[in-house]
Amino acid sequence: MLEAPPQLLLDQLESLLTQVKERHGVRVSLARFISVLAQYPCISRCLHELTPNGDGEPVDVFYLERHDFLVRLLVNKLMIRLRKEGIKAEIRSELKTKSGTGDVDIIPENPSNFRIRIEVKGGQGVGIDQNLRYVAENSVLILCLAGRGEALLVNRNKIRELLSDYLENLIDRAKLLLDGADEKSPGPWCAGCPLECPHARKKSSHKPDLEEEFLAQTKNWLKAINKTVELAVKILKEAEKTSRRKMKMRQESSDVAGENS
Ligand code: SF4
Repeated sequence: MLEAPPQLLLDQLESLLTQVKERHGVRVSLARFISVLAQYPCISRCLHELTPNGDGEPVDVFYLERHDFLVRLLVNKLMIRLRKEGIKAEIRSELKTKSGTGDVDIIPENPSNFRIRIEVKGGQGVGIDQNLRYVAENSVLILCLAGRGEALLVNRNKIRELLSDYLENLIDRAKLLLDGADEKSPGPWCAGCPLECPHARKKSSHKPDLEEEFLAQTKNWLKAINKTVELAVKILKEAEKTSRRKMKMRQESSDVAGENS
């Protein structure tokens, strides 16, 4: 069976969100809607997370600062490198799109419809749900895995089957919300649940181990950022080359058509 294009499935989720907003009075972005549906298998918790309740999770300043530092380091290095390579492109940070706010987006002049999104991860995790969401919208995603000293290219075509199935499942879950389902399904996601429910329990607090998560990992940061820059340059050059080749072929075929007319 042919899978539906991910962008089409994103559009379906967007129109379901409009209906969920009308029915339940929620006010969230599409990115938040998808993230909640994916993160909480329990429908009651999903509805609670989507409803304005004013008590968002506290953000740890250390992780925030580490992330901001890494994003700025990457943007600074990218700017210098693209200039040296003669690649004309806009580098944006915190660009809001359907799938969420990107850490770094590269928008080249040629081809102008091409985008590279870069997601920076300071720790050991890769953020699978978030990456699937981004890749549904952007055909090319680079993960800058700073904690691991790695960079990974995620090409939509390579994970198309999983991606379509994942989005279709979220569509079915969004329809459950619309149907007024109120099912409780306990699991690890019960940690920190504020609802009156026998399964609710406290979230264990995590204190950053500064020796391990700051000093020990700094040696990986540059490695990951340099690899990310190399990958981005390679992809931009390939995209530009393909675009020039297509332009040349179009020019040649219009010249032939002109000669034959
Ligand atoms: S504690 Fe209850 S309501 Fe909350 S996520 Fe778990 S099962 Fe769902």
